[in-house]
Amino acid sequence: MPTQTLEPPRRKRIFCNRCKMDTNHDHEAHRTVWSTESDDYWEQTDFILWICAGCEGGTLEERWTMTGMEDSHGKQVFDPIIYYPKRIKGDVGRKKFKKIPEKLDRFYGETIEAFNGGLNVLCAAGLRGLIEGICADKGVTGSSLEKKIDALVNHNLPQNIVEGLHGFRFMGNTAVHELIPPQRDDLRLAIEISEDLLNYFYDLDYKAQRLVNSQRVKTSAQQVTAPLPVQE
Ligand SMILES: [Zn+2]
Repeated sequence: MPTQTLEPPRRKRIFCNRCKMDTNHDHEAHRTVWSTESDDYWEQTDFILWICAGCEGGTLEERWTMTGMEDSHGKQVFDPIIYYPKRIKGDVGRKKFKKIPEKLDRFYGETIEAFNGGLNVLCAAGLRGLIEGICADKGVTGSSLEKKIDALVNHNLPQNIVEGLHGFRFMGNTAVHELIPPQRDDLRLAIEISEDLLNYFYDLDYKAQRLVNSQRVKTSAQQVTAPLPVQE
């Protein structure tokens, strides 16, 4: 059995999904579970419940370690922390488009989920497929995606969106055919360009979006107490 036990700090800085920012979290409860298969082998899992000092929402932290996982000073080392629910820091929100066909909306939604799940190659493939789907829905034809994008100009699509789409097309090609994961920032930009395209053809529901944004502002504005020295 381990000679050291995990002693969580009284307070810790964690990204809060509800407040949409890093906030202080108070230690609420802690349970350590040991399992042993022999005298010289054990595993330790710690479950720690944290409560956000701003919104009072709960987050469960899980840490795992085992026999022999020690640093050069003999201190027990743990696997990277897992939080439940998953932290949504940096995630992209799904927008609502009033007139979007159901199958395109589903494609768009799954592409956003792929991004938020860290599935970068699938996200790039999804974005490429989404553009193909929009072209098909609008009756735009061409021997390649590049020609289809050029043909979108005939639908009075603004030139800056067309140029953005061309950049995105090559990124999708590289990711899908050469299996090279695109950069997160490039994907985020490609999602924004695709949303510009969806907005142009299918009308972003600004009213619904304002409601979502105002809810985010309200939760972010809740008071968060001053930080204390905390553990990473
Ligand atoms: Zn919170």
